[in-house]
Amino acid sequence: MIGVTILGSTGSIGTSALRVLARHRDRFRVVALTAYGRRDQLEAQAAAFYPAYVALVAGGHGRDDWAEGKESLVEAATRPDVDVVLNGVVGAAGLEATIAALRAGKRVALANKETLVMAGDLVRAAAREGGGEVVPVDSEHSAILQCLAGRPRSDLQRIILTASGGPFHKWDAERVHSATVQEALNHPTWKMGRKISVDSATLANKALEVIEAHFLFDVPFDAIEAVVHPQSIIHSFVEFVDGSVLAQMGFPTMELPILYALSYPGRLEDDGAVRFDPVGAGSLTFEPVRKEVFPAFALGVQAGRTGGTAPTAFNAANEVAVAAFLRGEMPFGRIAEVIEVVLRRQVVQSADSLETVREADRWARQRAEEVIR
Ligand code: MG
Repeated sequence: MIGVTILGSTGSIGTSALRVLARHRDRFRVVALTAYGRRDQLEAQAAAFYPAYVALVAGGHGRDDWAEGKESLVEAATRPDVDVVLNGVVGAAGLEATIAALRAGKRVALANKETLVMAGDLVRAAAREGGGEVVPVDSEHSAILQCLAGRPRSDLQRIILTASGGPFHKWDAERVHSATVQEALNHPTWKMGRKISVDSATLANKALEVIEAHFLFDVPFDAIEAVVHPQSIIHSFVEFVDGSVLAQMGFPTMELPILYALSYPGRLEDDGAVRFDPVGAGSLTFEPVRKEVFPAFALGVQAGRTGGTAPTAFNAANEVAVAAFLRGEMPFGRIAEVIEVVLRRQVVQSADSLETVREADRWARQRAEEVIR
């Protein structure tokens, strides 16, 4: 039996993962569950899966048998009975657990892309030192991994990430600038959490994914592109050195990338899988990313190219700006403006220690708060 920890079990990824795991109880055992604050939902999950370890990070649960506090993420991720840590935490809060799990030799099924964006080199170093591995849960990166399977890195020429384009992919710039929270959360093809839904609407998510691909597959930024594909059927393309292009496709669901991250490099029969129907999928179309309407995309890719602590600052400024937008404190179009000002003021350093990364993260959050005020 493969022991699985789920960090962020009550979120969108966590609940999808538990649906998958419920169909594969013969192979996987849920060893630990952590959630931030949804006590009742966590209690129901614990009652259904009997994990040995349960933590409500925000505390206040009044139970002696549950853990609490930020450290519980690391505890849950490094237990000896755990083989795979599914990190579905949102944002920078998931970083320490990813690094600790890799150092302890675990597989990290990574949905927490911010972790790689903030500290990609440190995450890779932790995997090398501890013998752990990162397997992506992000649908685009799962697609790339599936296309690459068994082929040497030297065969790879280019990665083309697909982007749904979000709810505003046809809107003009002015209308996008003043979009409401409700409009931003109304994603056309994926049902996701609030933060990633807004990131998909600004296309900051696609920039995060370009950086994620750079670190996961060791590919230079010049060899990573993004294309808008509103139907979200093709989850990404890989081009090889001979010009051949492979794509991985299917109806949008996170359950497949989650199952693949658990079973990789193998595949498991899944009677709950949504079967593909090309006729039902209809026409597949592609459009360029409108960089002038979605400036967060280019800002993020540029931060990735700059390297060092620039992606850390991009991620931090974005998290703060998205939270302010979701609280109704500023218009949608301000998100990219806040990111831009923070990046312009940053003195980029090499991201060679967790302390440096944490400091750059703190600095960018403070600057972003000031810009918003
Ligand atoms: Mg994605």
